[in-house]
Amino acid sequence: MAGPGSEPGELSDSELLLLLEEPGDHVLQPGDAGKANSSSDLPLASLNKVLMEDSAAGKVKRKRAQTPLEKYYLKYLCVTDLSTQSWCEQQMVYGREVPQLQAPETVVLLNTGKSIHLARELEVHDVVKVHTTSQEDSWAIKILNLLSVIPVLQAGGCVRELPVFGVIEDVFLTGIIDELCYSAKGELELRELKTRGRPFMPSRAQKKKDYFQVCLYKYIFDAMVQGQLKPDVITSHIQLRPEQPLGSQIREHAQKVGFTVTCFGDLLELMYLNLTLSDLPSIDCLKIEYSHQESNTLLGTEVVRFEEEKVREKAQNYLAYWKGQREVQGVEIEEAWKCQSCSYSEICDWRKKRAEGSEQRSGPKKSK
Ligand code: SF4
Repeated sequence: MAGPGSEPGELSDSELLLLLEEPGDHVLQPGDAGKANSSSDLPLASLNKVLMEDSAAGKVKRKRAQTPLEKYYLKYLCVTDLSTQSWCEQQMVYGREVPQLQAPETVVLLNTGKSIHLARELEVHDVVKVHTTSQEDSWAIKILNLLSVIPVLQAGGCVRELPVFGVIEDVFLTGIIDELCYSAKGELELRELKTRGRPFMPSRAQKKKDYFQVCLYKYIFDAMVQGQLKPDVITSHIQLRPEQPLGSQIREHAQKVGFTVTCFGDLLELMYLNLTLSDLPSIDCLKIEYSHQESNTLLGTEVVRFEEEKVREKAQNYLAYWKGQREVQGVEIEEAWKCQSCSYSEICDWRKKRAEGSEQRSGPKKSK
């Protein structure tokens, strides 16, 4: 997206630019299979894999069930996929399958939240739309955005919309940290802004979902600055070609921020070196600020405790669904109150099964 008053592709004098790609690149839609890349580029490249099964008649080929990652053509997940899942996994799935059922007020709330985030982003840098010609170009933009904020952080500055990538349980995850700043005590502080339609703080359950989100950001960021994001981690998970030449606009923008690159692999090496040699610290403190959308008033700030083992366990459980290791789940009985305000309550299989189960348990009514 071009900054206000600028033409797409036009650079302003601002020092820090955030490069934007065409939206929606991360999900390869069913109709896109084989469009830009060969079929071997399909997520997990195993959609048509078959299992051999012995039978009386000899060897029979049988298709194995797709995992949700395969079913939705996903090469990676966003941190927000997992945090949404922590509210209700079934709801997250319906949100992907039947988004048109989402209540209009929820859509308005989300769009307003996005506009507020964009306005905050424009306070610290301009955004520029860059033409991409390959998947590698799209990822180059994310990496350039990351590379451009590292020196700002090194100099003790504040950055917004910082992209983070990493792997948990062999699943590639991406996210965007709202803000990273150094506190008066010199600690690296993550600040996540949550805007709310109603002028009061969220419930405990909503906060829990937000806590998980920021903990995942820390988990991924810390691994990045500790040198765990090696170039081949990205190319193997996303199935990208390091030898792929970068588009002219990408090379131009890289040059403007001081990097001379020709192919995607050059950029990956630069990212790895910059992250490992920059001496950036791990995140010390996690904060979530809740503000009221309409009045723009701060409702409160939560400081989140990071417990690595718990975060990993939770992520393992959610990723087990994505990897096809277990069925989708809805909310537990003690959280059934969430169903009352859920856009999918009319069609929800989990809810129906729960209701049927409790009817069976209570049995037929005895006649007196
Ligand atoms: S009705 Fe309840 S269980 Fe079903 S998707 Fe909504 S919140 Fe989840």
